Amino acid sequence: MTRTALTAKWVVGHVDGSHRLFPNGTVVVEGTQVLYVGHRFDGAVSRTINFGEAMIGPGFVDLDALSDLDTTVLGYDNHPPELKGRVWPQTYMQAGPREMYTPEELAFQKRYAFTRLIRNGITTALPIASLFYRAWGETTAEFDAAADAAADLGLRVYLGPAYRSGNLVVGADRKIGFHYDEPRGLAGLADAVRFIDRHEDTRGGLVRTMLAPDRIETSTPELLRRSGQVARDRNVPVRLHCCQSRLEYDLVVQQHGKSPLELLRDTAFFAPATILPHGLFLSGINGITHVAPDLEILAASGAALAHCPLVMARGGKLMQSFARFRDMGVTIGMGTDTHPPDMIQNMAVGVMTARIAEGDATTVGAADLYNAATTGGADALNRPDLGRLAEGMAADLNVIRLDTPEMGQVIDPIQTLLLNGSGRDVSDVMIAGRFVMRDGVIHGVDDADYRERAQAQFDRMVMQYPDRTLFHPPVEEIFAPSYPLG
Ligand SMILES: [Zn+2]
Repeated sequence: MTRTALTAKWVVGHVDGSHRLFPNGTVVVEGTQVLYVGHRFDGAVSRTINFGEAMIGPGFVDLDALSDLDTTVLGYDNHPPELKGRVWPQTYMQAGPREMYTPEELAFQKRYAFTRLIRNGITTALPIASLFYRAWGETTAEFDAAADAAADLGLRVYLGPAYRSGNLVVGADRKIGFHYDEPRGLAGLADAVRFIDRHEDTRGGLVRTMLAPDRIETSTPELLRRSGQVARDRNVPVRLHCCQSRLEYDLVVQQHGKSPLELLRDTAFFAPATILPHGLFLSGINGITHVAPDLEILAASGAALAHCPLVMARGGKLMQSFARFRDMGVTIGMGTDTHPPDMIQNMAVGVMTARIAEGDATTVGAADLYNAATTGGADALNRPDLGRLAEGMAADLNVIRLDTPEMGQVIDPIQTLLLNGSGRDVSDVMIAGRFVMRDGVIHGVDDADYRERAQAQFDRMVMQYPDRTLFHPPVEEIFAPSYPLG
């Protein structure tokens, strides 16, 4: 087995349960694993790469990894969602919703998204995509293609097609209601189980599987119950959007007479690796006055939160609070969930929103968010070999340049990174001992061509909006320009 030594001005190693900064450090990789982290390796190596003024750190774990063409741009300034095509009209639902992308387009989107994740230093990804644009759930065919793309690009993934038994609809009276189709949800779960059987721990361990019931408000109790059962039986992670919005919280209380977390507890949903994006709306938090033991249920469940501060802040929302959940011992991992899938930007916004939530700058620091993006995500997946660089750990790492004109001054690389850095500063990425990006280049990927194809698909999708927007206004009316056109 070849041994490669990687050196840089800074190395983030892991000693006695926490990250440690090594000035002028060395990481030695042998095969798919880290052999050594420290200042001086005495054994023989077959090659040495010196990255100079850079930081080598553990690869980021993305628990809610953007995997489609992000449509945040469509909702950024265009409100409210039910009048802007972001809730299906009753008539569209009745006519039978359809796929807005072809199978080839969906396969391309995963590959394209995976390249963006790698470029941002993400080494483990649990893909998430919007079901607004789908006939119903995600398909196993597109996830078969995603497994191929991940293996080809060298990205470590947890894959599972999203499924659901319900959907929000808006009537001509502008009121939001539900459409349920439980058999369709259970069929989606059955497909997901077959996907697990075909793909779990394949491609040299790069491809693992997961269950992805979409959201708590679009899942019937039976679907939640069975999902939890399968997650425990197969020992795979299960991820469910939960405690994400006020609307969701109120709808769950209205329908089931209990809070979202009470519903999860009472359907025995929790499994050894339960991941809940986004942890914003719980009893007593963010204006929720409904009384429920949400915090106790969360702490006792062992579930991890997937914190996605950038997308939430774009929508005017923040976790209340990071410090509180951390101090309760809740595992907090990170998700990108929006474009750009920039974990560095997410960490930076995460520090800001945590401090705004506390009204205090002293309780949450750069290391807290860096932990969440590395060890937090790994712990959420019960993967002690990920998110940390030490002997015997997976050789998943990223290299971040500290010598760009934009980076400013460095006394500590993590703090400087969160102040001045972005995903664009990631230069090299290694996953399972293989360089998947070298000096900004992902082998075999034509970025300009990918961007053009993505834009063309997006344009075609936007043209289909009037058909599935309440009262069918023209595209120009749904998506108003920032200023009148001149
Ligand atoms: Zn999300």
